Amino acid sequence: NEALKAGRTIEQFEASRLADAPWELSLLARIDEGMKNGDIWLAYQPQWDYRGARVCGAEALVRWNDPVRGPIRPDAFIVQAEKAGRIDALTYWVFEEAITAAQAMAGILPGFQMSINLSAQLVDKPSLLSSISEIVRRRGIDCREFTIEVTETAAVYNRPAAVQNLQQLRAMGFRLAIDDFGTGESSLLYLAELPSDELKIDQHFVSRILTGEREREIVKSTISLAHALKQSVVAEGIEDQATFELLSRMGCDTGQGFFIGRPEGFEQFRQSCLAMRLSKVGS
Ligand code: C2E
Ligand code: MG
Ligand code: MG
Ligand code: MG
Repeated sequence: NEALKAGRTIEQFEASRLADAPWELSLLARIDEGMKNGDIWLAYQPQWDYRGARVCGAEALVRWNDPVRGPIRPDAFIVQAEKAGRIDALTYWVFEEAITAAQAMAGILPGFQMSINLSAQLVDKPSLLSSISEIVRRRGIDCREFTIEVTETAAVYNRPAAVQNLQQLRAMGFRLAIDDFGTGESSLLYLAELPSDELKIDQHFVSRILTGEREREIVKSTISLAHALKQSVVAEGIEDQATFELLSRMGCDTGQGFFIGRPEGFEQFRQSCLAMRLSKVGS
């Protein structure tokens, strides 16, 4: 009625209706639908082990091709899913999918490590452990082959329940990674107070190490800090060979970025891994 008053046609009204408020309202249903019909899917981005000179694993990155809006960036719809109270369902769906992919990769690349992002909103939920334990039991996975990535935010280290959950996950065998290290809040508090095995240096720093002297020193120091704390280092956002090689000389353990491989659907990802097994990246 508003639209008709404004002099728009029914068709225009329908189009704007689909594109605006009801899109938000029906988000919950759309997420549920997308997980079932393939609009929501996982892309896998390879991680490169410098010492072994091979792909050692992947990060699972969620994708959403909305039939109305087209592709929606994950950082945008994760926030929406959190608001809509759908982040639990989405996260456990990601776990299930990523486990299937990891099991398929284990036969191709022994020791394959799968990384999964955990929303900060879920980290302190009382139901987190029972939900993940149920998945672990039912799927019969070895938790040591999975890394759970948590972004550094105050929401996590400020809450005893979050720290406890992370400690429990680690006790189950999961590796824990601090994601986007250096760009969140209170990185050092995080390092001091949270159990973690891996530090992922944010691409903000990685993409500047060739040109920025400060960023280069920050990355160098972060690598030695992480190693002193018995953690391994993943550099995110490696886009060219020179950056890839400099990080190798700096003693970085693992690399991730478009230069090594872009996030791709499972079948593509598997093919790329087979190809990379034959031709070494950066040589
Ligand atoms: P993130 O976990 O830090 O993921 C890395 C992001 O950097 C990905 O963006 C990846 O595509 C991008 N990236 C990788 N290599 C390069 C590179 O060389 N250059 C550039 N410019 N970018 C690169 P993406 O897939 O758009 O994901 C964005 C964020 O969305 C993720 O950041 C993560 O915080 C969140 N996210 C993605 N999937 C999930 C999920 O399943 N659950 C949760 N809770 N969050 C997710
Ligand atoms: Mg991540
Ligand atoms: Mg990151
Ligand atoms: Mg990020």
